[in-house]
Amino acid sequence: MPELAEVEYSRKRWNPGIGGVVQEVRTHPKSRIYRDVPATAVKKGLTSRSLVASYAHGKQMMFEFSGGAWLGLHLGMTGKLFVADPGREEEKRDHLILRMKDQQLIFSDYRMFGKLTLDLCEDGSPPQWWQDLPPRTTDHGFTKKRHYTFVKRFPKTPLKTLLLDQRGYPGIGNWMADEICWRLRIPPQTRAGDLTDVQIDEVWKATRQISRDALKHVGDDWGDLPKSWLMTHRWKDGGICPRKTCKTDLVRADLRGRTTCWCPSCQD
Ligand SMILES: [Zn+2]
Repeated sequence: MPELAEVEYSRKRWNPGIGGVVQEVRTHPKSRIYRDVPATAVKKGLTSRSLVASYAHGKQMMFEFSGGAWLGLHLGMTGKLFVADPGREEEKRDHLILRMKDQQLIFSDYRMFGKLTLDLCEDGSPPQWWQDLPPRTTDHGFTKKRHYTFVKRFPKTPLKTLLLDQRGYPGIGNWMADEICWRLRIPPQTRAGDLTDVQIDEVWKATRQISRDALKHVGDDWGDLPKSWLMTHRWKDGGICPRKTCKTDLVRADLRGRTTCWCPSCQD
């Protein structure tokens, strides 16, 4: 599942089409990505409009088109956005193609967990649901106080699981949540109610910092994350804790339905 930096990277893939007019919309109407909005509505809603801008918010993307049309996109598990030249042959997984004069904007999705929304807002402002999304972990609105209140609402929830809650931490996914716990040397199973006030504070700081750093490394050009991050070791066979003084074998286990990785020595 894409996390905030991958989503930020992805939404920029269509930016070469900004200013271009959609001459034709091609869809696979039976594709599951149209479960919330029928393909016919997307066709009708976007044809002849031009792409104005793109935005990312947590795991959500938004594409603004002229005349107040807003296409929301969620990548699901295998969704991919890219631009191709006008002559490219259509492929089976290309469930949405926006044809422009000089290029095609393509959304391809092998497993079809991705989904779309389409809002037509005559006053030109973004749809209400988008405006109502909780603040991003890099926004000013993601305050210490807001985080503290959220932690206190779910005393029985393990910290790792809490960090995956998109109402509190939009864009934080499995890998980032593990990274935050590991950086702070807190076992991911620790119940939110057992965190000290100092730890709650540290979780807030680490969440902001890791979000910012992930965006910096991945958000623009899909760069590599530093080797000092847990993320770069967690899936390797025999992965070891990257802390220089530690080098203990990492452990992986299920926690509330998600594969979780931690260092049994640092996070004891
Ligand atoms: Zn360690």
